Amino acid sequence: MQKTVGRTIRASHGTKLTAKGWQQEAVLRMLMNNLDPDVAERPEDLVVYGGIGKAARNWECFDKIVECLTELEDDETLLVQSGKPVGVFKTHPLSPRVLISNSVLVPAFANWDTFHELDKKGLMMYGQMTAGSWIYIGSQGILQGTYETFAEAARQHSDGTLKGTLTLTAGLGGMGGAQTLAVTMNDGVVIGVDVDPTRIQRRIDTRYCDVMVYEINEALKLANEAQEQGKALSIGLVGNAAEIFPEFVARGIVPDFVTDQTSAHDPLNGYVPSGYSLQAAAELRNSNPAEYVKLSKKSMAAHVRAMLDLQRLGSVVFDYGNNIRQVALDEGVTDAFNFPGFVPAYIRPLFCEGKGPFRWVALSGDPEDIYKTDELVLKLFPDNEPLHRWMQLAKDKVAFQGLPARICWLGYGERVKLGLAINEMVRSGELSAPIVIGRDHLDCGSVASPNRETESMKDGSDVVGDWAILNALVNTASGASWVSVHHGGGVGMGYSLHAGMVVVADGSKEADERLSRVLNTDPGMGVIRHADAGYELAIETAKERGVRVPMLGI
Ligand code: NAD
Repeated sequence: MQKTVGRTIRASHGTKLTAKGWQQEAVLRMLMNNLDPDVAERPEDLVVYGGIGKAARNWECFDKIVECLTELEDDETLLVQSGKPVGVFKTHPLSPRVLISNSVLVPAFANWDTFHELDKKGLMMYGQMTAGSWIYIGSQGILQGTYETFAEAARQHSDGTLKGTLTLTAGLGGMGGAQTLAVTMNDGVVIGVDVDPTRIQRRIDTRYCDVMVYEINEALKLANEAQEQGKALSIGLVGNAAEIFPEFVARGIVPDFVTDQTSAHDPLNGYVPSGYSLQAAAELRNSNPAEYVKLSKKSMAAHVRAMLDLQRLGSVVFDYGNNIRQVALDEGVTDAFNFPGFVPAYIRPLFCEGKGPFRWVALSGDPEDIYKTDELVLKLFPDNEPLHRWMQLAKDKVAFQGLPARICWLGYGERVKLGLAINEMVRSGELSAPIVIGRDHLDCGSVASPNRETESMKDGSDVVGDWAILNALVNTASGASWVSVHHGGGVGMGYSLHAGMVVVADGSKEADERLSRVLNTDPGMGVIRHADAGYELAIETAKERGVRVPMLGI
């Protein structure tokens, strides 16, 4: 991987344009924001989050993308193939300014070996989800979803609160780092294991984690005290999950909840085998990648075996979207799928209503703009009590990373209402610059991922990939500002197809048009996808909110 030492990328703030219009400027700032050292996990390698999820293929491509965006006209579209700008076409003013395809391999070849071979030849890049589609906003991006997941787990298993409970998890990276804060937001105690102390330190610096310790005994002592006093506490424990989880089993310590968010989707770059220091792991990764992957998968199998043991001992265990069960199954852990994924366990009803990780970013760089939109959300949805609670928690506890942003799970009808109201605030000058509106690919109607978002679908359509493609197509037809299609995000090569969209509220009438279409088609895809699969809640939502589903007579 090419490195550019000492180069620091930050998006410009304020109202001065460096491109030929706000649509292009927004793409430019969001690309740069993804690589802001306060946002990206390893900006020097162009890595944003999630193992090797990158924003551009290499620095040369990054510079060329910036140049293209700076020169792009209001009726042109830039094409980006796995992080490389490959063409500019004349399209029309309301079409997307950028179209992106990341990491897409022909299905029979859709595996890590082929990917790495092509990556080495400079022909590919791993785009993860929001890394290569330029709408990553730091750990906050996953925070509300993680908060909602733990809140739902508490409702189902622990009288609606995590107070007095212990959660054991691992992986405090870009996304996984949200777990510690999400648990304390639900009043619980959490031990989050990570092999890399710098990752834990980063969570402490951004207030996602309270303390870091190096010793399991110390972690347990702090956890016990906090649990007894009913206090919320997050403890980052430096260690390897494949060693620490079995240690819990050996000692008969049974946490209330157990999960994991190491980057297990990528055995070469995302997971450190047990018995290896970070440095020794890095050396082996370089000198003998095949051996590394073998050891890494073996460790994951031990890690999952410990999770299954803890489940048998009484813990509530769930997979947190990193495909670790699949690796363990391939390694011979035949009961690896005995614990469920978090989507079927806790999130699917939200998807049926077109809800998902909606987010917006203030291009001004001024936190005040976000605080004003926070007020707007409360005013537009006065009766949504969980939403009000979330907005308060977010305001109190979330430190912005890079351009100020907010995440908020909204459903069909709500997204368009908020989007148009934000555009009005930009138009009136109440907000000091345009707002970028987007979402994670982990959304209701934009992803096919049989071990995650589409696990255990009611009609058995888990592996049907058409929906993700239709999502990208309809958002392009509707005039999103940029649209992306990806393969392998979240769970790794071969296991997912997904699409992203971003639309810019620049205060113009044209933006009203874009927003009013895209913010209906996009969550509408979630409603029709789940209605088609037979979910009653989705069918009701379609009927109530006027989403047409021809085969159901709606
Ligand atoms: P990341 O690569 O930024 O962080 C992974 C972390 O795991 C690192 O801090 C690393 O040090 C740690 N780690 C690796 N091996 C370890 C081991 N053996 N023991 C302890 N720690 C270890 O990744 P991320 O962005 O935090 O994402 C984590 C995973 O979660 C990915 O697989 C990603 O695809 C998935 N994900 C899930 C969701 C969700 O909502 N469920 C959302 C986004 C990403």
